[in-house]
Amino acid sequence: MPAKLIDLTQLLNEKMLVYPDTTPPTFEVTNTVDRDGYREHHISMQSHTGTHIDAPRHILRDGRSLDKFPLDQFIGRAMVIDCRGRNEISGIKVYSVLAPPPAIDVGTLQVCI
Ligand SMILES: [Zn+2]
Repeated sequence: MPAKLIDLTQLLNEKMLVYPDTTPPTFEVTNTVDRDGYREHHISMQSHTGTHIDAPRHILRDGRSLDKFPLDQFIGRAMVIDCRGRNEISGIKVYSVLAPPPAIDVGTLQVCI
């Protein structure tokens, strides 16, 4: 059976939830089809906005950057936990909303959307 691919990417917008003290993304129309023959935007956002992966280099001076990881490490089994309507999330709280607790192996990605 072919694998079912699920895109978990958050849509970016200027009112999206961002990390405290992080500037929300902005989108400026720089070119239009009617005026310029093509559409283009200037997008400004910090790298930890929306769906992203934190590389070890994010917090370690000599940590690996994402380009040093093989692409196949970003594809795998995942567990989706619906956290909508919750104001605060921690690993313990996430597991507390599940009954019974899941059997999670080390290779399982866990994504909260
Ligand atoms: Zn991050």
